[in-house]
Amino acid sequence: MKLLQDKVALITGASKGIGRGIALQFAQQGANIAFTYLSSVAQGEALVAELEAYGVKAKGYQSDASDNKQAEDLINAVAADFGRIDVLINNAGITKDNLLMRMTEEQWDEVIRINLKSIFNTTKAITKVMMKQRSGSIINITSVVGVKGNAGQANYAASKAGMIGFTKSVALELGSRGVRCNAIAPGFIETEMTGKLNEDVVKGWLNTIPLRRAGTPDDVANACIFFASDLSSYITGQTLSVCGGMLT
Ligand code: NAP
Repeated sequence: MKLLQDKVALITGASKGIGRGIALQFAQQGANIAFTYLSSVAQGEALVAELEAYGVKAKGYQSDASDNKQAEDLINAVAADFGRIDVLINNAGITKDNLLMRMTEEQWDEVIRINLKSIFNTTKAITKVMMKQRSGSIINITSVVGVKGNAGQANYAASKAGMIGFTKSVALELGSRGVRCNAIAPGFIETEMTGKLNEDVVKGWLNTIPLRRAGTPDDVANACIFFASDLSSYITGQTLSVCGGMLT
């Protein structure tokens, strides 16, 4: 029996990187997949066929998670197209790194809007769907940086720490309605986002990881399968680090 057979999962930002990895792993576990992309239109469209090859229903939506109206329209469209939504993965995110002294107001605002406001938008909109179902699992992709902080990422760390507080509050509000909310804090995962990092910074990070390797989108996807499936039915309000022991 597949762990997510016939569940409907909505994943934001799945045109590449971690989101794409989650979508592919979820499809292999039998989930029907709704996913979003923003600027990577061709990559988003190509993913539909890859997911359908696993025998599941898949549909991509071009939607900006940081726009409240677009997020609301997205949730309504997915609920109409798929009939229900069992899992929401708030994965869409960006970095705009700079030392605080040099950080512009735009860099601060954009990261908070795309990483943090977006999860308010999608989670608020999905609440009525999941409460009506009396079931649902919301998974927020935060970061070890939100727990530990990181020089040059004050905006990103603040957005990711905010996601953890949001996760706990949603878990407390919706637990009695059968809706769970957890966060996953990846460490250093090889994607386009980390591809931008300076080679020396990457080497430094790798040396501090007890498991001595970078993570992959599949490593994060496996943790998402756990939180999305009934294996975690008594777990809510938690943050699980997927970081090769980096935070230990
Ligand atoms: P990525 O390769 O840069 O992919 C980011 C995804 O988010 C893309 O699909 C992008 O879509 C989408 N996106 C960006 N802004 C969006 C918006 N406003 N609305 C909808 N989608 C949007 O990044 P990644 O490394 O996979 O990261 C995914 C998540 O994991 C992020 O939240 C990131 O903070 C978190 N994370 C990553 C790492 C890491 O080491 N990579 C570590 C910890 C946490 P388009 O390309 O279509 O615009």
